[in-house]
Amino acid sequence: MSVDSNKTFYLETFGCQMNVHDSEKVIGTLVHEGYRQVETVEQADLILYNTCSIRDKAEQKVFHRLADYKKLLAQGKKFGVLGCVAQQEGEKIFERAPHVSLVCGSASYRKLPEMLFELEKNWAAVPNRAEESQVPSSEFTHSGNTRNSRLATQSLVRITGIDDRETDECFETEFTARTNPHRGYITIIEGCDKFCAYCVVPFTRGKERSRTSDSVLAEARQMADLGYTEIQLLGQNVNSYKDPAGKPGGGFSRNKKTFAELLAAVGEVPGIRRVRFTTSHPRDFGRDIIEAIDAVPTLCDHVHLPVQSGSDRVLNAMQRLYTREQYMERIAWMKAAKREISITSDVIVGFPGETEEDFAETLSLLDEVGYDSVFTFKYSPRPNTPSLALEDAIPDEEKARRLEVLMARQREIQIARYKKYIGTISEVMVEGRNESRAQWIGRTSQNKTLNFTAPESSAPKVGSYVPVRATASFPNSLVGEMVV
Ligand code: SAM
Ligand code: SF4
Repeated sequence: MSVDSNKTFYLETFGCQMNVHDSEKVIGTLVHEGYRQVETVEQADLILYNTCSIRDKAEQKVFHRLADYKKLLAQGKKFGVLGCVAQQEGEKIFERAPHVSLVCGSASYRKLPEMLFELEKNWAAVPNRAEESQVPSSEFTHSGNTRNSRLATQSLVRITGIDDRETDECFETEFTARTNPHRGYITIIEGCDKFCAYCVVPFTRGKERSRTSDSVLAEARQMADLGYTEIQLLGQNVNSYKDPAGKPGGGFSRNKKTFAELLAAVGEVPGIRRVRFTTSHPRDFGRDIIEAIDAVPTLCDHVHLPVQSGSDRVLNAMQRLYTREQYMERIAWMKAAKREISITSDVIVGFPGETEEDFAETLSLLDEVGYDSVFTFKYSPRPNTPSLALEDAIPDEEKARRLEVLMARQREIQIARYKKYIGTISEVMVEGRNESRAQWIGRTSQNKTLNFTAPESSAPKVGSYVPVRATASFPNSLVGEMVV
């Protein structure tokens, strides 16, 4: 099912690593269908936005972007909305942005080839918009809604792909267009069944469904053969992974693996030097993951374990399925690991009903854990979520104040933590060069940025691994020199 090979597309991605990787798969799919990717909206026939709806701001961004370019419909350009906003809003997107022709939710990507075919076929059947847009405005303003006026601002083609939450389908494709030649993502589990009170993900990404460990390992081996040395395993809750091997359609049951076993197996694929995984849910975080990190040197010494709040009362209201004590137990496992594990997290401030005391408990948790980095968010009410019904909303100014206090406290923690690395030597993967600073950009196994200098005679290659001694620190990065 191939379309005209002169067709071009532009794709912009919003949101998390899952979306970035979905876009790599969408790009691969489009290229296989005969499209060519271009760098700007102006060069493209088809303009796609892979969207995020985790917070209201992310969602608004998409509609602003669509509004910015709506005049381009008159030039014959088609617009498509993919991802979480598409899944959440469905056909309502056609009302809010009538120039959109394609809406495809994140659970429906496997249908993209058919949807693109329909889009092109139906598009070819409607009259040329460029001519219609030149109709003098006086001809269509009196009635306000004549055929021509609608044609200039509204797409007559509407293709929708929205799966319900219960879909079992994963977006597996052999056409992934990975952008980085050294480091690549593999999605091992899609969707989420946890239903935290504040979160849209279970509604936008469907129910939890894992790929077989055989198919994940086959992809990892294929990537190693292509020269990739770092693999990042992805999932909304990557460690909730349940190998479907042994189930109907799931392959041999004797190959069934737990998440920790799969992690170790990917780490043992010849040629793979680093394996990362994100995001882990504290409830499903077993000690066997730390044992795997201890046993397999290629598994990176970094765990992202979002806590959201340090208060049991708030954790309970958020329906997070763990207590502070249980969370701290997992932190204790990490701190007892053979290598020092860098721990990072997500925190939400201003969840409905969060008191000053609750917030103080979150601050004390930051001190107790000593995170290397924390993504901090103001609570954002989201459609369909149970927390919409909660009373005691926190005013926005108060959320903003708490966010600032939290970030300032975390900054102090990071300043102290990063200082400790001065004088130590770490292996970094070389990610690029910052010419203006005459520095190479490196990343440690702990996921810290370590920018460094190197003698011209030993300039490292991008994608190589070199030892670097840290000589100075900032709150979010280290600076050093290559050890030659
Ligand atoms: N599954 C992961 C977990 O449970 O920790 C998190 C995935 S979610 C896509 C990423 C982060 O977005 C969450 O950890 C949370 O901090 C934040 N987030 C999700 N919904 C939010 C909301 N309604 N308001 C503010 N932050 C939110
Ligand atoms: Fe959202 Fe909670 Fe699922 Fe994470 S576990 S994706 S925060 S519902």
